[in-house]
Amino acid sequence: MKKIALFPGSFDPFTKGHEDIVLRGLRIFDEVVIGIGTNSTKKRYFPLEVMKELIERTFADFPNIKVIAYDDLTAHTARMLDARFLLRGLRNTTDFEYENGISQVNRYVYEEIETVFLITSPHLAPISSSIIRDLHRYGQRVDDFLPYSLNELNELNQDQ
Ligand code: ADP
Repeated sequence: MKKIALFPGSFDPFTKGHEDIVLRGLRIFDEVVIGIGTNSTKKRYFPLEVMKELIERTFADFPNIKVIAYDDLTAHTARMLDARFLLRGLRNTTDFEYENGISQVNRYVYEEIETVFLITSPHLAPISSSIIRDLHRYGQRVDDFLPYSLNELNELNQDQ
């Protein structure tokens, strides 16, 4: 049976830290589905469709990496995709406390699901989407933290 993992997150924006988790996940799973959770009550900084497109471009050469947006429980989405695994990254104990809770809830909703945690690669540990948003908001260049070019993002933004 094909091992499919869903990598759920806000990805606002998708960073080199996320990219690293996806690529390392591919050594364990046959397919990784990057799931951008859409929460209508939470306003995004980077538009969803733009981010989806940029992630798709990042992994254009990988037939076993897919990108979806979903508005449902993560566990329901995993079941719908036939994904028996959730992939998540851990940077520190704060991440652990949070991840511990959601992974228990996900197994409550979908008993067969297992969350697999990959410890961050040390050089990527300081990267977080919220820090990147703050830097970007005040005009700081953030390209070094992203696996795609922000010029592309600006072009896509203008098209939207
Ligand atoms: P969420 O809003 O669900 O926390 P994020 O987009 O912030 O989603 O993160 C998705 C996943 O990626 C989480 O498991 C988070 O811990 C992990 N992650 C984020 N940044 C890094 C990083 N630099 N290294 C490893 N894992 C990371």
